[in-house]
Amino acid sequence: MKVAEIRTHLLEHRLETAFESATMRFDRRQHLLVEVICEDGTTGWGECLGPAGPNAAVVAAYAPHVIGQNPLETEKIWATCYNALRDQGQRGLTITALSGIDIALWDLKGKILGQPVSVLLGGRWRERIEAYATGSFKRDGVDRVADNAEEMAGHAAAGFRRMKVKIGFGVEEDLRVIAAVREAIGPDRRLMIDANHGYTVNEAVELGNRAAKYGIDWFEEPVVPEQLDAYLEVKARQPIPLAAGETWHTRWGYRDPLQRRVVDIIQPDICGMGGLSEAKKVADLASLHGIRVVPHVWGTAVQIATALQFMSAMVPDPVRNAPVAPIMEFDRTHNPFRQAVVTTPLEHKDGFVAVPDGPGLGIEIEREALARFAPKG
Ligand SMILES: [Mg+2]
Repeated sequence: MKVAEIRTHLLEHRLETAFESATMRFDRRQHLLVEVICEDGTTGWGECLGPAGPNAAVVAAYAPHVIGQNPLETEKIWATCYNALRDQGQRGLTITALSGIDIALWDLKGKILGQPVSVLLGGRWRERIEAYATGSFKRDGVDRVADNAEEMAGHAAAGFRRMKVKIGFGVEEDLRVIAAVREAIGPDRRLMIDANHGYTVNEAVELGNRAAKYGIDWFEEPVVPEQLDAYLEVKARQPIPLAAGETWHTRWGYRDPLQRRVVDIIQPDICGMGGLSEAKKVADLASLHGIRVVPHVWGTAVQIATALQFMSAMVPDPVRNAPVAPIMEFDRTHNPFRQAVVTTPLEHKDGFVAVPDGPGLGIEIEREALARFAPKG
């Protein structure tokens, strides 16, 4: 069996209320799905993190290296594509685009062999994954402190035991948000903070030292991802464990952060850092260094299913000889097509999401939704 065709599907929705992280403003949601079709019509689906139009262009550039190949040969296809653009493309859009193709090939492999991706990655250690709620962006025209506290109390009431708030807007205001959220969710829920690399080293150090008393599980992307020395400085000068990695790509991009232990938790985005083939390698390397893996998830149900399959297959920590249950990021912002693209939405129940057990990613795409959310004009 050979790959016959690759298609991309750009999805777009304009938001009624824009929202912001410390470094990015969202007035629309946009995602790119990749469809790889075999000669017999079997279809695999993947997703690319990041700007959808440029990702689609790079997927098209890879297509001649994928069409005509055996879809089961995922490593061979990955390496061939990587080498084709290597000289100008060791990270960034060349890797986010390759991620979507790789995930679609794994979905195809599962459908051809009649097995879930989690089994093909080595085995289903778990049938459901605990999710943590990501939200609390800065929204236009509302008081951020009260808005974030109310939102997080809602996630707690919905059954989430863990949640993450967005910071990076200024130390004093961020501390008011963290205090209000902790008050709203009570002492037992787990709380994380994410600055989206909006701070300088000194701001991050001050925030970390003053926020620690609120019980914070991790401080995500305190500073820009390129400056590993800055991570080491923040790590040394404040007590909260650090997390980062949603912008680090491939095993080569993860080598220095892991070897230098710049963070306590890495957050590979499977749809961005090279796909399932590469995420498996990076998770194995993290295990070598005793660093925890909590994948970054920001996309449609295709990405959620990819993360679920991957996390089901994550091997319990052999150093501790005990299962360390992975947790999955679960975006709670408004996104009408996140779940609409699949026939059976991947929703949480009391803060846990079941891992699909059908072949491949275990999802079925709702083609009518793809047409509905295609950009108009
Ligand atoms: Mg983040």
